[in-house]
Amino acid sequence: EAVINRIAAGEVVVRPANALKELIENSLDAKSQRINVMVKSGGLKMLRIEDDGHGIRAEDLPILCERFTTSKLQKYEDLLSIGTFGFRGEALASISHVAHVTVTTMTSNDSCASIAHYSEGKLQGDGVRPCAGTRGTTLMVENMFYNNPTRRQALGKESIEHSKVLEVVQRYAIHYPHVAFACRKFSGSNSSAFELSTTGGQLNSRDVIGTIWGQNLANELFPFEVKSEEPPFSCRGFASNPNHSARSSTLILFINNRLVDCAPLKRAVEAVYQPVLPRHQHPWVYLALDVDPATIDVNVHPTKMEVQFLHEEIISQRIQETLSSQLRTMGG
Ligand code: ADP
Ligand code: MG
Repeated sequence: EAVINRIAAGEVVVRPANALKELIENSLDAKSQRINVMVKSGGLKMLRIEDDGHGIRAEDLPILCERFTTSKLQKYEDLLSIGTFGFRGEALASISHVAHVTVTTMTSNDSCASIAHYSEGKLQGDGVRPCAGTRGTTLMVENMFYNNPTRRQALGKESIEHSKVLEVVQRYAIHYPHVAFACRKFSGSNSSAFELSTTGGQLNSRDVIGTIWGQNLANELFPFEVKSEEPPFSCRGFASNPNHSARSSTLILFINNRLVDCAPLKRAVEAVYQPVLPRHQHPWVYLALDVDPATIDVNVHPTKMEVQFLHEEIISQRIQETLSSQLRTMGG
């Protein structure tokens, strides 16, 4: 059974960056205002995420990493109303099957924090113990794929994994500008360098984009908005103007506040820019799309990045029309 769980979890957690995406979403679900990420060896040796959210009750810790048990969703209908993708309650379970997990957490009702270690989905022998801490949760994920050398070897260099981890933090920082995000790279014997730090509070998405990608890009982005009743959706974001030169095409896409990939939508955006951009230049676009949660394919696993939704074609087309008319008015 352990082997089956490990294989299943390996399908879900394919690399440090996608584990981190789940952990950030948990911190955001817990209403955190600060999220600090620490990365060691591309996240393979260690990935630590510290938040100031509402914490986890000590009595919930024994089953924290068991599959499905922690799911907030009691009935299938809840899936449609809550707006999360797919079946939930699996992320921590999956991570604990491919790595060693340590949780330190404290709620505002607790007089001290609690610490617990997990592996293979289970609370480890020493159980839940009291420890010092402040309100919030720190999740430490160590030695990812220690029990799956094949998977580990299939990954890229540590530097590639590191940049994918950083990219996830950058993208969430844009979409949640009121949350203060920090990402540090551990670089040997207690030293670490900040690679990203946003202040939260009053910053808007454009300010965060400037902090991360530079003011040059941020200043020339144009805001973008589409609203539709039929099919019901809304989309807002920022898009680069045709004079901006980018070496690779970037579409940062959030659907219903989850970071996702959608290849057809990315192609649709690229097609709008293609005639107006010089050769070898690419668009940079951030889109926050909200659709009826009932129209997202719930069979796509929650931790898979690629998403499918109803009316994908019409929605892509509407986004294309708005983008291209804006590019035209800019004289592109
Ligand atoms: P899901 O988020 O789908 O419920 P997860 O495995 O990601 O499943 O998390 C399990 C549960 O653990 C969450 O529902 C939540 O109650 C709790 N949890 C995980 N991370 C945090 C966190 N950073 N702060 C507060 N609660 C958390
Ligand atoms: Mg979760």
